[in-house]
Amino acid sequence: MSDKKNSAPKKSRFRTARGWVAFACVAFVLAGMAFRVGIGTPSAFGIQQISAICPLGALETMAGAKGVMLHPLLLFVLVVVLIALVGKAFCAWMCPIPWLQKFFRPKKRGVAAKGEAGHDASASRNDSDADSVQVEPSAAGAAQIAESGEEQVACASSACAACPGASACVKALAPVGGKRDGVQLDSRHAVLVGTLASAAVFGFPVFCLICPVGLTFATIIGLWNLVQFNEPSWALVIFPIILIAEVTVLRKWCSRICPISALVSLLSNLNVTLRPRVKADVCLRSRGVDCHACVDVCPEQLDPHSKRIPECSKCGKCVDACPAKAISIKLLK
Ligand code: SF4
Ligand code: SF4
Repeated sequence: MSDKKNSAPKKSRFRTARGWVAFACVAFVLAGMAFRVGIGTPSAFGIQQISAICPLGALETMAGAKGVMLHPLLLFVLVVVLIALVGKAFCAWMCPIPWLQKFFRPKKRGVAAKGEAGHDASASRNDSDADSVQVEPSAAGAAQIAESGEEQVACASSACAACPGASACVKALAPVGGKRDGVQLDSRHAVLVGTLASAAVFGFPVFCLICPVGLTFATIIGLWNLVQFNEPSWALVIFPIILIAEVTVLRKWCSRICPISALVSLLSNLNVTLRPRVKADVCLRSRGVDCHACVDVCPEQLDPHSKRIPECSKCGKCVDACPAKAISIKLLK
């Protein structure tokens, strides 16, 4: 009985917290409609002039108008300040896409995936699908418990099986390094340029027509109108079809396509607060143990040891996955 209990996957507290935030976002939108206060959606929270639109939406609006507009500009500046404080947290905490991906692309449990940077991982590094269980430190999922002074730590490497004890090992290993550490431009940024160019050419924010965040909430609003006012609409068919196609066919949407992610990651270079920080002396690598659980589990392919990780969405998966509890998300250093 107790074995069964011990072998059950532990729920991530960050995942639970993110779930509640996502639920609150939907509840917020529904409450806005129920009480007719028009508080918008996560693309455009707010009432009338006091609204905060998506930063990409603000830029598209100005590109479409071919000029600087005071209201979108002020809102854009406000969002820039928010991103400076919380970085790319929107992607993990408010965007509905990771949840839709989980729903439409359920992942088989217990299948070790080969990480893109070559590490075996007991959880996938694909977009946001690796947080349902806490990741064991071993590449093969066979963690070895080694005595280290008075406390026990999980030894990460199967190669250490013959080791008399991790405490005897004093050879610190260099950080693993993440594939997307530092400032990098990729295909998302090309899509971002195309998004702004299309708004300038057509005179309106073209991307908003297919934005999965907008489509999600447009679908929710359509459902509400159907239930509340018996108002069926073609949008209730078309929007979900586009959305499901984006989630299932464009499987790398977040890391390869999303222009919102591209813009937010650029702005996240301003962010130094609320990021994961590793206690170097607690990290198993400081004792020569070849642990890379934090890098393996990161959906953004980052190494929390790195100084610059603007792609960090503050999802907390590395915190939960670290077998030595060496990582915490701190306001400042
Ligand atoms: S570094 Fe940690 S908190 Fe940041 S995205 Fe990766 S797993 Fe999430
Ligand atoms: S911070 Fe934790 S998970 Fe990452 S390498 Fe060190 S011990 Fe392993």
